[in-house]
Amino acid sequence: MTFKEIDQTRKRLIEWYRRHHRRLPWRETDDPYRIWVSEVMLQQTQVQTVIPYYQKFLQHFPDVKKLANSNLQRILKAWEGLGYYARARNMHGSAKVILEQHAGKFPDSWDVLRELPGIGDYIASAVLSIAFNQPYAVVDGNVKRVLSRLYEISEPVNKSSSYKIFKEVADGLLDRRHPGLFNQALMELGALVCKPKKPDCNGCPVHSRCRANQAGHVDQFPKRIRKPKTPLHNITVGVVYKNNHMLITRRKPEGLLGGLWEFPGGKIGKNESPEKACIREIKEEVNLNVTVDGHIAQVKHAYTHFKIIMEVFSCRYVSGDVKLNGPVDFRWITLGEIDQYPFPKANHKFIHLLD
Ligand code: SF4
Repeated sequence: MTFKEIDQTRKRLIEWYRRHHRRLPWRETDDPYRIWVSEVMLQQTQVQTVIPYYQKFLQHFPDVKKLANSNLQRILKAWEGLGYYARARNMHGSAKVILEQHAGKFPDSWDVLRELPGIGDYIASAVLSIAFNQPYAVVDGNVKRVLSRLYEISEPVNKSSSYKIFKEVADGLLDRRHPGLFNQALMELGALVCKPKKPDCNGCPVHSRCRANQAGHVDQFPKRIRKPKTPLHNITVGVVYKNNHMLITRRKPEGLLGGLWEFPGGKIGKNESPEKACIREIKEEVNLNVTVDGHIAQVKHAYTHFKIIMEVFSCRYVSGDVKLNGPVDFRWITLGEIDQYPFPKANHKFIHLLD
């Protein structure tokens, strides 16, 4: 594209955005804290899912100070069900640094932001451009798809090394006078018009500048590499009852589902029955001897890199004192207390069946 064509493309995108963008709660503010919260939530999660979480989160934690001074369990509880819990843990860590080292004022510098836990290239670019109007181009899945079609970029969008290429292209197209508006326009175009399937090229404000559209190749972009099939794990967990209380354990703070509470259990071995695996896993993980009283549910759940089928059993405490091997904490709780604790989504699929 010539300089004039690039300039026209920017103007058309921004004009289209001004007219057609969705009214979303985080677009009603220029508060960097709120924009940060929304952008973190929107990573890996759809807009409609995020809206109620965003509103609830800001009721509990309306500013950096409130977030920094809250305990992690409260934050994880507000995040419960949104997944990718490292995001919540990192926000808590970042809020503490902002409060302690920047007097609670949200940083407006690239170098400072990138030092904070969980703030990568995307979040820093989004917050700085949208809240502070600084010229940083954002690259997310929507942007990559639009750019791959606009410029017929053959680099697969799901290959991590291609990020740099898309970033350079996005940077070249960025409207430096209105970076926040421009970034949002490109992302919104991807979400509403240049969709993965059946993009609405006739309604697209930049169709005359789009190489894939002009060449009739839209269905060939974006390119993707084939990923290996997601593995399936067979899991068993036990709800161990003792005197009308049940045992829950807390996962270690880092890693998958870090800091959340769950029921003890683990992988079912080859040639092992789910019941036997349940008794063995509970002995190994919490040192209790139990018997299996009944089957509560079979739960299927998909994580990003694997899927699980989980057999859930009702177990009766027989003997032993809890000694933790893996989990970092435990509680004997009544069913009425269960809402105080944040659990993974897979556990919520059977918690409502407990009595
Ligand atoms: Fe996407 Fe079609 Fe617009 Fe090209 S013309 S950017 S393929 S919606």
